[in-house]
Amino acid sequence: MHVFVTGGAGYIGSICVEQLLNAGHAVTVFDNLSEGHRSAVDARAAFVQGSIGDPKDIFQAIKDSNPETVIHFAAHALVGESMVNPGKYFRNNVANGLNLLDAIVEAGVKKFVFSSTCATYGPPDRVPMTEDMPLRPINPYGESKRMFETILNWYHTIHGLEFVAFRYFNAAGASERFGEHHRIETHLIPNILKVPMGQSHQCEIYGTDYPTPDGTCVRDYIHTLDLAQAHILAMAPGKHGFYNLGNGEGYSVRQVITACEKVSGHNIPALEKPRRAGDPPRLVASAEKAVRELGWKPQYPKLEDIVSSAWRWHQQHPNGYRD
Ligand code: UDP
Repeated sequence: MHVFVTGGAGYIGSICVEQLLNAGHAVTVFDNLSEGHRSAVDARAAFVQGSIGDPKDIFQAIKDSNPETVIHFAAHALVGESMVNPGKYFRNNVANGLNLLDAIVEAGVKKFVFSSTCATYGPPDRVPMTEDMPLRPINPYGESKRMFETILNWYHTIHGLEFVAFRYFNAAGASERFGEHHRIETHLIPNILKVPMGQSHQCEIYGTDYPTPDGTCVRDYIHTLDLAQAHILAMAPGKHGFYNLGNGEGYSVRQVITACEKVSGHNIPALEKPRRAGDPPRLVASAEKAVRELGWKPQYPKLEDIVSSAWRWHQQHPNGYRD
């Protein structure tokens, strides 16, 4: 199958592209390299540098590559930044995303796979969270993804576009070749690992007064390789709808620090800081629907295995991608 991947030079996108190619698919990556890296694009993929902000760019690229499926990773994805600059999130994740959807409809693409997020739910009434729970996002990032999910439903109703929207919990870990390198790193695991890498003296904990067992936020970490597998399963004809992707286990910030200490063999001091705006206290997935309906089976559910893969990649790429 020919797959067109927006954001395929980014963290999750690059690993998904690699896995698609390994599974025998042909891939075209479309990325503006604002967050992604050219050297994160698997050499077996075709690469088009362009922006979904430009309707002509995106339509031309899709028309030229004539894919059966489009997978859409290109988006801004930082909770904290979205609380400071909401316009950036609504513009790129919603308005620019519409350029992509219109191009797909015009080009006659039948299948769309979308990276949504558990941030669409906001603080849940109970965990683990199922897809039928109310969507009450508490940050513009989550809101922008919720809006796009709503738009997708209308494109399905009106244009017959078949889609799978994955609500990722916390993506982490690396493949053998591709890993996490953000130009400004805000994510928990890569920031903690900077300490044993010798790039930082201490990590930071954003909030120790949450209503959780140790007072720090609880998240459900999911290996990027398992995310990639779900995308491949979602491409099968007839698969449609909203699916959580997580492991069903919550780990607090302190537990993640402990896991990083164990994996790296280093003591990792932590500075306790105030809460970060927009963070729900606890997000844990039920991914039973994806298991049941897509046949998804996570291969790396253990936090230590996820952290080990990240640690290995960071040791091999102390400065990330060079470009
Ligand atoms: N966090 C933290 N220190 C950091 C980075 C993140 O305490 O250096 C916390 C953050 O407040 C959140 C959790 O770790 O509760 C996961 O944050 P991350 O940014 O990795 O992912 P998010 O859940 O925002 O998508």
